[in-house]
Amino acid sequence: MDYKHGKGIVVEVDEYEWELPGGIVIRANSQLLIYVLGAAFADQFSHSKYTAVVCQPRARHGDGPVRTATYTRRELMAFLELVRERARATEVPGAPLHAGKWCRWCPKSGDCAEQDRETSEQAGASFDELPPEGGLEVPTDPQLLARKLLWVDAIDVWCRAVESFAQRLRENGTEIPDHKLVQGKTNRRLRSVPELVQAVKDAGLDGSKLYQEPKIKSPAQIEKLGKPFKALIGKKDAETGDFLYTMKPPGKITLVHSSDPRTEVTLDQLAQFTDLDEEQTEGDWDE
Ligand code: SF4
Repeated sequence: MDYKHGKGIVVEVDEYEWELPGGIVIRANSQLLIYVLGAAFADQFSHSKYTAVVCQPRARHGDGPVRTATYTRRELMAFLELVRERARATEVPGAPLHAGKWCRWCPKSGDCAEQDRETSEQAGASFDELPPEGGLEVPTDPQLLARKLLWVDAIDVWCRAVESFAQRLRENGTEIPDHKLVQGKTNRRLRSVPELVQAVKDAGLDGSKLYQEPKIKSPAQIEKLGKPFKALIGKKDAETGDFLYTMKPPGKITLVHSSDPRTEVTLDQLAQFTDLDEEQTEGDWDE
């Protein structure tokens, strides 16, 4: 069982297709599979099947917060062979490096020549020159766009890693040419609420104006108020089956990889959403 507290990266139990020794092909998440291997080792592979369980309660997933994948002993043994082979390959001097979105978890990220080279190639950017004024060129060819989209995450990882590595160096005393450390902007805060309330009263002003109208809680927060609230908010119209007190507005349309488990929005549906948006915008203006 792997408990994931994060919600930024939704963990897929069947993230990639793996071609294993012996012609075995499985879909799996290699991190989970390595955990399962650890458990299988601990009991000397005495079971015929092992199940990996991911529990990620804070991230939304179509299959719910708990997802599982089961592997046979034979599949695990084949994966073990692959892991051993790859681990041995890293010990060869000059072993090839491969940059990708996995660099996020690597301590060399932001200070790795291979990551720089690959990012530069994929983003069409030469780090020997200053960036072009209009920004980097965006391809228009759908095939090329599809390939570049696969690199967006990895390039984003590289950008964050370069920023944080450079800041760490500067904070430790290294000069970074043309760059300096500054304090971020902050918003004003009240020093003391009781003192301000008293000052307003002393000045003969209306103290109630210091406060805002109470704000209604979200459906999820209302559900947490207890069973009666949960039952009330979950009530449905007997005829239509729609929830009486809650509704989901259409989500923002986003282009994602075809492996994403969500249902595809067709162009017809897209046109309907656009019409709906326009109607809602007009309605907003009427108010
Ligand atoms: S940062 Fe470099 S060493 Fe680390 S995973 Fe990426 S390519 Fe490999």
